Amino acid sequence: MQRFRRLNFWLIFILLGICWGGLGLAWGAEPVTIWAGSPHEKAVALTFDDGPSPVYTPQILALLKQYGAHATFFVLGHQVEENPGLVRAELKDGNEVGNHSFGHPRMTEEDQISREREVERTAVDLDLLGCPQELRLFRPPYSAYDERLKSYLAHTRRCLALWSLDSGDWQGLAAPAIIKNVLGRVKNGDIVIFHDNSEADRADRRPTVEALKKILPALKAQGYRMVTVSELVHLHDSGAALHK
Ligand SMILES: [Zn+2]
Repeated sequence: MQRFRRLNFWLIFILLGICWGGLGLAWGAEPVTIWAGSPHEKAVALTFDDGPSPVYTPQILALLKQYGAHATFFVLGHQVEENPGLVRAELKDGNEVGNHSFGHPRMTEEDQISREREVERTAVDLDLLGCPQELRLFRPPYSAYDERLKSYLAHTRRCLALWSLDSGDWQGLAAPAIIKNVLGRVKNGDIVIFHDNSEADRADRRPTVEALKKILPALKAQGYRMVTVSELVHLHDSGAALHK
């Protein structure tokens, strides 16, 4: 009995050590940065920034549903506050929602208080909508980040979520060019960036929606699973494995 107890003690001690080691590796001084998933898995993550938009987001959600795809929406807090129902619709369909700041500033040009306000106000908005936030994704506007931002994200248990394939839709391209950008270059593990801005931004996302009507069935036919960023990188299985 005594021996059994001692064995249990050591087993718990070793397990705790492994847990602390894993957490330290993932969430210590070095932040987790996500660029892409495994090149060995036939899967991609489609992502949509700057929404939700009352005009384009519902069309995109309908297309994702039609082709059995899930996506990650990197939303802006000010859009979330205006369109909470759209965030609920994104989540209801099994999509993921990440934080893309409140008002879309270039974070590297903001002071620390302003940066924190940008991240945390949107996080509170998402928390209130029941958006799972235990391992949270933050995508910086304009992909502008520095060591200070990475450090803040690490200490608040967030991942810096970037991308590996640019659809180019933000450049105002027509649908055929967006299709070519994506289907001509896509590979296993890609994180593809699109945009679903509101019309209030004077952004015309009709080409993005038109392009998705070709891109989604083509990716499906090629055997790609279209999953969320967290699923692509197995974030919930092992945060430590993502450490870079
Ligand atoms: Zn953006």
